Amino acid sequence: MKANILGLHHITAMASDARRNLDFYTRALGLRFIKKSVNQDDPGTYHLYYGDYAGSPGTVLTFFPWPGLRRGRPGTGQSSAVGFSIPAGSLAFWQAHLPKLGVATKPIEQRFADQVLALTDPDGLPLELIATAETDARVPAPAKNIPSEHAIRGFHSSTLALSDAKATAALLTDTMGYRLVAVQGHRTRYTVTTGGPGTYVDLLTDPAIPRGLSGAGTVHHVAFRVADDAAEEDALALLQQRGLHVSPVIDRAYFRSIYYRESAGVLFEIATDQPGFAIDEPVESLGSFLSLPPRLEPHRAEIEAALPKLN
Ligand code: ZN
Repeated sequence: MKANILGLHHITAMASDARRNLDFYTRALGLRFIKKSVNQDDPGTYHLYYGDYAGSPGTVLTFFPWPGLRRGRPGTGQSSAVGFSIPAGSLAFWQAHLPKLGVATKPIEQRFADQVLALTDPDGLPLELIATAETDARVPAPAKNIPSEHAIRGFHSSTLALSDAKATAALLTDTMGYRLVAVQGHRTRYTVTTGGPGTYVDLLTDPAIPRGLSGAGTVHHVAFRVADDAAEEDALALLQQRGLHVSPVIDRAYFRSIYYRESAGVLFEIATDQPGFAIDEPVESLGSFLSLPPRLEPHRAEIEAALPKLN
């Protein structure tokens, strides 16, 4: 028996400045700001969410911006790159667009059948625009200065850098329902269900990669999708049966989640597709209101006063 995982759900990373983070992801990358909330474990700081128009699972990149947080170092034991899917033929647009906003890009790299343009966000988080000829029918959020034919569709892949991939590969294939699809050099690609952008996990075992250090500009955790609560309960039981230490199901308002650390140190989450980001504000105005969990609602005035203003 294997968990019924459908692909990537969201990826959460760390940043040091909320305003600069918001500006980069909405203006430079053209993602929609879909949720302004607080870190439930540290309500004096934001939790910011970006994605497609509705915040569909598989498109959502979220950040904990801690003011002044020391920079980390992307490396082994972490998700070391966030891959976004863009249409084949769109790289020329991005190569012209990003430098106009002061964002440097690296030379184009060939990876499997796709071309990859790598860059980093203002905190040094490694990002990849992956121009793929594979079908990706997801509709991007409308964005100023980014024509929809070139816009980001959602995640393509998450790359995990590992000093040894064996145990992580076994967890993906034996328990999480992934299968190996391709190998190129130090990179091994896994997928679930029918595959395609938004499902891929790449395990990278390049000995040149240093050990990762947690901090601003590094990934905090990678969340995988399940359809519903029943699939979540099945995954929880299965992971426990395989000896993993798994959290109980936690209600994150927009989805319900379990957390566990795979043996190389990467924090994994499994999150439900339901209920989604429209549970506390309409889709048309997502991100415009400070969303608080019910237990923090009585403290709204003090929380709002302590947070930096975002436009
Ligand atoms: Zn999460």
